[in-house]
Amino acid sequence: MPKPVDVILKNALVLTMDEKLQQYFPGAVAIRGDSIQAVGPESEVRKEYAAELEVDCQGRVLMPGLVNAHTHVPMTLLRGLADDLRLDVWLMGYMMPVEREFVSPDFVRLGTLLACAEMIRSGVTAFADMYYFEDDVARATAEAGLRAVCSQTVLKFPSPDARAFEDSLAYARDFISRWKGHPLIVPSVAPHAPYTCTPEILKATAQLAVEFDVPLHTHLAETALEVENMRRETGMPVVPYVKKQGLFDAKVLAAHCVHIDYGEMNTLLHAHAGVAHNPSSNMKLASGFAPVAKMLEVGLNVGIGTDGPASNNDLDMFEELRLASFIAKGNSGDPTALPAPQVMTMATRLGANALHIGDITGSLEAGKRADLILVDIAPLHNSPRFRRDTDNPYAQIVYSAKASDVTDVMVNGKWLMRERQLLTLDEAELLVQAQEYAHKIDAFLIEREQSVLSKLIALGGSSEQESFEVQVKVQIDDPDQVASGLNQDAIKIVRYRHYHQHDTYFVFEDLSQGRLRYREDEFIENNKIANVRTRLTLIGPAREGQFKHDVLLSRSRYLAPATQTLRFYREYFKPKAELELSKNRRRWLIHYRDTEFFVNLDQVDQPTLGTFLEVKSTTWSREDAKLKAQLAVELISLLASGKQKTIPQDYFELIT
Ligand SMILES: [Zn+2]
Repeated sequence: MPKPVDVILKNALVLTMDEKLQQYFPGAVAIRGDSIQAVGPESEVRKEYAAELEVDCQGRVLMPGLVNAHTHVPMTLLRGLADDLRLDVWLMGYMMPVEREFVSPDFVRLGTLLACAEMIRSGVTAFADMYYFEDDVARATAEAGLRAVCSQTVLKFPSPDARAFEDSLAYARDFISRWKGHPLIVPSVAPHAPYTCTPEILKATAQLAVEFDVPLHTHLAETALEVENMRRETGMPVVPYVKKQGLFDAKVLAAHCVHIDYGEMNTLLHAHAGVAHNPSSNMKLASGFAPVAKMLEVGLNVGIGTDGPASNNDLDMFEELRLASFIAKGNSGDPTALPAPQVMTMATRLGANALHIGDITGSLEAGKRADLILVDIAPLHNSPRFRRDTDNPYAQIVYSAKASDVTDVMVNGKWLMRERQLLTLDEAELLVQAQEYAHKIDAFLIEREQSVLSKLIALGGSSEQESFEVQVKVQIDDPDQVASGLNQDAIKIVRYRHYHQHDTYFVFEDLSQGRLRYREDEFIENNKIANVRTRLTLIGPAREGQFKHDVLLSRSRYLAPATQTLRFYREYFKPKAELELSKNRRRWLIHYRDTEFFVNLDQVDQPTLGTFLEVKSTTWSREDAKLKAQLAVELISLLASGKQKTIPQDYFELIT
């Protein structure tokens, strides 16, 4: 008596992607409930099993669904928003500000549904996600019927779903405890990357993952710059650094690993960590070429991922398969590198292993969940077909097949697409809603791009100084005279500092935008650089004007800590021109007639302009400012005893 099953898929070219890479034609798969009961030659399967429903696969390839090993699915809504930029400008200048403004449970849900539709169409049955509001990602994914490792992001910056990392950690704990054991969703935690997390975050997230026995998803060694910075700051490459923080106590899924060495590969191997290789993303962001062949040789579970649709810009795994192979060949000069069967293994079984869900999916084997796809291998672009070599079908899938050749998708024993018809999602409705978001985001960015100030504010952390600024400046010949001039009873010195100041001024076409100053202060103590501080200041045009041209009363200033490099700001703000100024500054904070002043003695080295004496103070009212200006002029004549020259106007404009 044949055993009853729910459905038998027959007349297929079955590529099992199991350890032996067994294939059957005509082959069949018997499914009962959510699981595969049998895989084998059609005649044998049909002899042993009986189903009310038999599906004729018409000679198509029947294979395990593809595993997208690393992505950020809600970012479908940011696809094509900002391209051809460097990673930091793209991330900090565009993605994060837009995310802060728009990312909500609603945004995440829509983006996820859109991504699920795209992934089902391209034969993906499981993916590893990392984003915010991961609870909504998980819910939308489960509704769409896909399998996923859903990882809640934790990082040191405020994020759309948390003001501080403690909040996102608490969110992750709650999220994991509620979803653990779900038939489709594996909840997980994602410390975003070593450079966006503190050691404390890395430790806490690893402990959380261990406590609930769930995977930990992160980005590792994506760019050479990341590795360089890590070496400079900690004296270690990235993998040993995160190991030191206890990250590998957890089941890690590490995206990228572009810049790791042989020792680091072995560390990952011993930690049973999975790796997600993202060929499109690495090429688009010019991150480098991951040593994929080496990692496979070492024995690592390397899966293939699309990365987020804002850095790819699609979720087409067929494209990733082909690129993975082509990059490995092109980069090594060895056309035998990463052959088609190996690439397909990465995109299925190894990918599932990398996600730590290899026990239930990733290959067509009895006992595993029925996560499978049918691919039409007879369209024009994939004809004719050779069967002399058993590798021929793999080459067909990797080198010729397209996502649109996927006709049917089943996950957990349930059809999500039949004959190219989506069964769980309303594609037309999703497209309309997505376009509405695009209009809103466009409007937000158009408004932001209108001024340097709003672009600065979009980066976060800036604050306006609404005070009046009194500034009197003269050029002097004898700096020593100033130092001794300060030594009199009328002047009380509160503090003294010495530093080198390097300023880069960004000048914009529209002068009313003001000038943006990137300032690097090197504080000098005992003839050594004791400390470096970088700040960004947007200096508006003078508001109150100047009386005599060497006394300035007021201008608006917006201050922000310069957390990025000068190059970042240059690419983000796109100034028309730049001016550089370096000076050796000696600064005294003094009290003169019960009023606080800064006395700056600046030797300007670049350009060589000589030495300037500047007296400065800030105040809150215009009347007070005028009073202080009188005192400041008095102080100047005390310190430079009438020998001062007035300052060239253009220089005054530049340095104020
Ligand atoms: Zn990523």
